[in-house]
Amino acid sequence: MANPHALIEGVAISSYAIRSSFAVIYVRGEIVHVIRRLQQAVLDAYAAGHLGKDIAGSGFDLDVVVHAGSGAYICGEETALLDSLEGYRGQPRLRPPFPATHGLYASPTVVNNVESIASVPAIVLGGAQWFSSMGTEKSKGFTLYSLSGHVKNPGQYEAPLGITLRQLLDLSGGMREGRTLKFWTPGGSSTPLLTEAHLDVPLDYEGVAAAGSMLGTKALQCFDDTTCVVRAVLRWTEFYAHESCGKCTPCREGTYWMVQILQRLEAGTGTEDDLATLLDTCDNIFGRSFCALGDGATSPIVSGLELFREEFLAHVTGAGCPFDPVASTVFAPAGTSA
Ligand code: SF4
Repeated sequence: MANPHALIEGVAISSYAIRSSFAVIYVRGEIVHVIRRLQQAVLDAYAAGHLGKDIAGSGFDLDVVVHAGSGAYICGEETALLDSLEGYRGQPRLRPPFPATHGLYASPTVVNNVESIASVPAIVLGGAQWFSSMGTEKSKGFTLYSLSGHVKNPGQYEAPLGITLRQLLDLSGGMREGRTLKFWTPGGSSTPLLTEAHLDVPLDYEGVAAAGSMLGTKALQCFDDTTCVVRAVLRWTEFYAHESCGKCTPCREGTYWMVQILQRLEAGTGTEDDLATLLDTCDNIFGRSFCALGDGATSPIVSGLELFREEFLAHVTGAGCPFDPVASTVFAPAGTSA
C-alpha cells in the first residue's frame, strides 16, 4: 500500500531476468483499495517509461496487467491462480506438468509471491552479500511479519529472518493492556498453534519447524487470555469450509463435517467422542487432499486439541463454553501451569 512501485520495479527486473514480456499481478478481488493503488502505480510506471515498448532504449518490452480475482482464497495456490487467470473456475491443477513448463496458456510461467518480487530491487541495489548478512545461517535476509490480533499495534513489520515473537511484540507495543498471550500462529491458521512457551523461537524456517510448526505466511495471529480456543478453531474451520474449492472429497466433505462438530462443541451439545471424531477426520484429510488447503485446515484442530484438550473437554462437561472473557483464562496450555 505504501510503496507499490517497489513491486512494479521488482516485476520489471524479474521479467527482464527471465526474458518475459508479459507479467500479471493477481490480487484478490475484495481488496479494491489495493487494486486501485496498484493500477495507478502501473499507469505511473508506463507514463515514466519504465514499462511498455523499448524500456529506457533497452529494446526490452514489458506489459504489466493488474488482475482482480473474484475473491477465492484458493486462487493464492499457483495453479488455481493460473486457471482463474485463464477464465476457468479457480481450482488447483494436477502436477506435473508444472507451471515452469506449462503455466499460463500452457506457456512457461514463473509464479512468485508479491513479497518476494517486491524485495528484488533492494537486493539488486544492496547486493547478495548485503542481503545475506541479515537473517540466520540457513534462512537469510529479511521478510515481512504480519502481526495481528490482540496486540497494541498490529501491522506489517519488516525484520531479519530469525527475529522472535517476543522481539516483534516489543516493537509493536506488546499485547493489549493487562492481558497475556494465550496462543498464536506463526504462519497463519494453517500452521500449528504455538503458545507463550514459544515466544523465543527464532522465526525462521528451521526454528519454527523445530518448534513443531511452520513459518508459512509469517502471519502472526496473536490471541490473548480472553480467547476461547474452541471458538477460535471453529471460526478458522468455518473459513476453510467456505474456501474449500470442492475439487477433492477429503477437504470438501471433511471441512464441512468438522464445522458441524465444532459448532456443537461450542454450543455445549458435543460429546467426548466428538474430540476423537475430529482427530479422525483430520487424519483422513491430512495427506489425502489434492492441495495444501486441506492439510492446513487440520492444523488448528490438531494443535488446538493437543495444547488445550482440557478446554475442549470443559465445553462437553460444562454443556457450553465455560470461558469467562472478563475474568481472564481458566485454561493454560498443556504442559504449563494455569
Ligand atoms: S484440498 Fe480443498 S481446496 Fe485443495 S483441491 Fe481439495 S477441495 Fe480444493
